[in-house]
Amino acid sequence: MYVNGARFFEVLDCGKAGMRRFKVLSFLPMMIKIKYLLFLQAIVVLLSCQNREKTKQSKPIVVMDTIQKMEKSEEEWRKILSPEQYYVLREKGTERPFTGKYNLHFEQGKYSCAACGFELFDAGHKFESHCGWPSFDNEIGEGRIVKKKDLSHGMVRTEILCSRCGGHLGHIFDDGPTATGQRYCVNSLSINFTPATDSTQKK
Ligand SMILES: [Zn+2]
Repeated sequence: MYVNGARFFEVLDCGKAGMRRFKVLSFLPMMIKIKYLLFLQAIVVLLSCQNREKTKQSKPIVVMDTIQKMEKSEEEWRKILSPEQYYVLREKGTERPFTGKYNLHFEQGKYSCAACGFELFDAGHKFESHCGWPSFDNEIGEGRIVKKKDLSHGMVRTEILCSRCGGHLGHIFDDGPTATGQRYCVNSLSINFTPATDSTQKK
């Protein structure tokens, strides 16, 4: 007779001690099953985590998603900006050439939007264009500047705006003398300069 494997005989042969052992032994398959189930569960969790990690990695980084838009009424902008800044940034005006404070400014540092403070240009990209306005051959990071077709004043140009607050910066032209071939022609009134500190200059 061989009921439930060899364990049946152990019970018959060994009395109370055998019964205790029988109880332990009969729990063993259940414990093994639980251990096995926990092990399987751990593998499933591990695999699902790995899949989630893969999904994260394959998702392209979209810069625009990280830019928090700043929206204000024209009344609010008038309070924040000087009349000259308001004319350029909000009414798309242009400062007179060779008059802006950053036209011939070549210190190391960063230029940010004068309306919202968003960093737009690095001094390393600034060059002397002799056009009368501060000129850069690139922006500080992708997605920081919005380009928009501008047909005003009987010309076909590309307007550049701060992507955070929509402030008018100037225009971009593809006649730049450097490797990028770009000339971001910016009003000094649209930007503010922050000099590089010792630690940022070393980078
Ligand atoms: Zn801005």
